[in-house]
Amino acid sequence: MKLEEFQAKKLFREYGIPVPDGIMVTTAEEARSAAEKIECPVVVKAQVQAGGRGKAGGVKLVKTPAEAYMAANSILGMDIKSFRVERLLVDPAVSIAGEYYVGITIDRRKKLPVMMASASGGVDIEKVAAETPEKIFFQEINPERGLRSFEAKQLAFQLFTDKRKALATASVMMKLWDCFHGIDASLVEINPLAELEDGSIIALDAKIVLDDNAMFKHPVMEEMRLPTPSEQKELDARSHGLSYVQLDGDIGCMVNGAGLAMATMDVIKHLGGTPANFLDIGGSSSPEKVIHAMELLVSDSNVKAVFINVFGGITRCDDVASGLVAALREIQTDIPLVVRMTGTNEEEGIRILSDFGITALKDMTEGAREAIRLAGEGGCS
Ligand code: GDP
Ligand code: MN
Repeated sequence: MKLEEFQAKKLFREYGIPVPDGIMVTTAEEARSAAEKIECPVVVKAQVQAGGRGKAGGVKLVKTPAEAYMAANSILGMDIKSFRVERLLVDPAVSIAGEYYVGITIDRRKKLPVMMASASGGVDIEKVAAETPEKIFFQEINPERGLRSFEAKQLAFQLFTDKRKALATASVMMKLWDCFHGIDASLVEINPLAELEDGSIIALDAKIVLDDNAMFKHPVMEEMRLPTPSEQKELDARSHGLSYVQLDGDIGCMVNGAGLAMATMDVIKHLGGTPANFLDIGGSSSPEKVIHAMELLVSDSNVKAVFINVFGGITRCDDVASGLVAALREIQTDIPLVVRMTGTNEEEGIRILSDFGITALKDMTEGAREAIRLAGEGGCS
């Protein structure tokens, strides 16, 4: 789960990391009042779950509340890396003397958290890593002991020779570790960690990715979730007992069992098609589940054909067939449908479908090929 900057800064603040005292707003009018309250100059910043907002024109430094209003107007609704800007952070602007980078993530190869720091901050850190890797310094962290004060200082002195600035940075690093550890993050990042003209150190940007597998420990943070439209769909699906992952192809898939769902996607791909989703309706597929699943598939405007692939084991084909008929009675759709059905009670299932005017196939490859043909993808025959 990714947080937006205003949420990440709130958590940073709770852990004692210095951050600007800004205000999150959702309208240009609110941005103007925030600018009046904070006192100009201010920075108006797009809130999206992605970086590179500065380059995309989503970060604007303004000198008056009227300018804040105009900046907010131009940034709201902007599309940044396919996120629509719906929120802004209005932060007091500061005079920057230098931009640095500090972050913590898990090094999967070493199986340890690692702190990264660089004097080349403010810019894309991936670019620094690719072009001048020697400019990034690393400190592995023993997760049980935590980041040691001397380790933080060693790293901070790679960025600053000035003792006061190095110690202030080391203190931020210690707090950043406390935060990373305390909230079960998989990434925390400050880019830029800014040195101001008065020599103080402050986090001007904040990025946090939380570990979804640890969210049960942090119900408060679950409330911070700002799902993207496709994540919202996945969450709704989960609440109906469906495992759904949206993809970008055009063949909607409805399958019982995760393994069969994977195999179905593989077969579609192999035959030259592209699956629009992963969807496992699970065992004991009640008609309600099938109806929800069908609704999910047809609500995706990319879907040009639906492939329903059922292998009856514990799940009975006649149950799924009845569910499907009920779903199709309820949902009016022109999207062509291919059903492959085999296994427990298949004769009964196929009969129910054929009474409804659907001819079920028994072979998965044949079904996938037919779905690709109906989606108009061509594929290979
Ligand atoms: P990102 O582009 O999504 O990473 O957004 P950032 O929050 O990192 O902002 C991009 C850049 O805007 C920073 O690297 C700074 O150079 C600049 N910036 C952000 N806040 C301020 C500020 O208060 N004063 C000034 N002068 N520049 C700022
Ligand atoms: Mn940044």
